[in-house]
Amino acid sequence: MALSGGVAEVIHQGFSEMGIGTRIYASNGNACDVTIPEIIRYLGEDEGTRVIVTYVEGLRDPETFMTVAREVAAKKPVLAMKAGRTAEGAKAAASHTGGLAKEDLATDLIFKKAGILSFRDEGELIQAAAAFATQPIPRGNRVGVITNTGGPAVIATDVMVGAGLTLPPLSEKTAALLKENLYPEASVNNPVDVLATGNAAHYRACMDAMMADDNYDCLYINFVTPFFVDTESIAKEIVAVNEQRIKPIVCNLMTDRRQWTGTVKILQDGGVPCFSLPGVAARALSAMVRYNEIRAKEAGEVKTFPDVDKAKATAIMQQAVTAGRKMLAADDVYGILDAYKLPTAGWAVVSTPEEAEKAAADIGFPVVVKADSESIIHKSDMGGVAVNLADAAAVRDAVTQMQAKFTAGDLKFLVQKFTPGGTEVIVGAKAEEGLGHLIMFGMGGIYVEVLQDVVFNLTPLTTVEAEDMLSEIRLAPLLEGVRGQKAVDRAGLQEVLLRLSQLLADLPQIQELDLNPTLAFEDSTCVVDARISL
Ligand code: ADP
Ligand code: MG
Repeated sequence: MALSGGVAEVIHQGFSEMGIGTRIYASNGNACDVTIPEIIRYLGEDEGTRVIVTYVEGLRDPETFMTVAREVAAKKPVLAMKAGRTAEGAKAAASHTGGLAKEDLATDLIFKKAGILSFRDEGELIQAAAAFATQPIPRGNRVGVITNTGGPAVIATDVMVGAGLTLPPLSEKTAALLKENLYPEASVNNPVDVLATGNAAHYRACMDAMMADDNYDCLYINFVTPFFVDTESIAKEIVAVNEQRIKPIVCNLMTDRRQWTGTVKILQDGGVPCFSLPGVAARALSAMVRYNEIRAKEAGEVKTFPDVDKAKATAIMQQAVTAGRKMLAADDVYGILDAYKLPTAGWAVVSTPEEAEKAAADIGFPVVVKADSESIIHKSDMGGVAVNLADAAAVRDAVTQMQAKFTAGDLKFLVQKFTPGGTEVIVGAKAEEGLGHLIMFGMGGIYVEVLQDVVFNLTPLTTVEAEDMLSEIRLAPLLEGVRGQKAVDRAGLQEVLLRLSQLLADLPQIQELDLNPTLAFEDSTCVVDARISL
């Protein structure tokens, strides 16, 4: 399925070079009638289609695409590539989440949520499709490597290990079998090097041993065709093992295809996916392993918390919409968070120094005072945040100073419990046309743009997705505790993400939302700064 006829031709050409055909090609042109989801559904139902390759430049109806792709991807592999990847030019200055979300992130997230394997390179897409078309899906990431030349196996090993595959050592039994059957000079390890002089019986002994060995889920074969061995008989043995369909095989065939035509034909007719570079074959196998991981992963559940006060939040939102606000006032923001039981530090919104003193005494010292106005976006940059205020006098001074500094007509003050010492993370959201919201999680605080350590997903978020988001950021080990620090409250952070997902579903008017920072402590979580724009 390719939106562009030209890309379809690129795909056909790639397949043809590998000696494989295309069962059906469909393009919906300018989509005046037939849609991409309709085509994908059709291909999903077509019994002769083993793998679906999709090239899109945009998704007109992402919601339907997601529903259909999910159904089809549960039946057979769907491989996809989205082109037109340029970083979003305009940055929404008001929000971190808006600025950090790149343009076609949503498409990647749709692919991910639907169980589609996504590619960024058309060559990789085509080569992986060739492997999927003939091979069973590996059940795990453990690969056995057989080669008759050293270096290319090293290159392939680097690629596969880099992609998360492992090369388990040979079991005693397999090693004994190989020692018995190979030349004494052969390297009996994983990779197994049968040597350039290795013959058909040697290859066969290796393949049989690794197919029978439970330590391996798939086979990578590197096959150079020296003139001094009978390469056709080696090819026949590879085909014979391939036809048993026990575990997937990919082959890096190092040959001159114009001269070794017999060998090439045997492998092609036998359905062995042959590639022309070690890294290319390794990436095709890695794609199959990645697909198995996607398929085997449990989806988790979308939680609905019954203790939220949707009516209260909706009423607050309605009032803000009626008043024509673009940015919610602090009491509205924290009111909504409280309604969804998102954990916040004790807070009050006040207008005068006297009210602030009283609120601080109620909340309990030490407190923080923050200027609140629609015109003040990054408060601390402008001197609108005073932390660690220990007594009434300090609170009064802070408010008086801010009153002198800011002249905004709607100026108020948020008095908040000071809760130092947590790990600062950011939780955010951004509306996505036709898709609900993007949810973001990452390392937060004032360095969020510098660190750029954030990950995204789409609403509604499942329990598994929430847990994954915590693990996917680069600095994930910090949340688990490094250098003697304790791990943070993961369950609390996940609950924040899940409750936020529910809040966003209930309040679709929210354009962007930042909870930055959310402070993660050892056994609690607390939002200390929040912003919602409409
Ligand atoms: P802004 O992001 O608008 O500059 P914040 O409310 O996020 O303002 O405050 C800036 C920084 O001050 C936060 O990143 C955090 O480090 C610290 N901070 C703010 N409120 C609290 C609080 N209640 N307890 C502890 N630290 C706080
Ligand atoms: Mg902040």
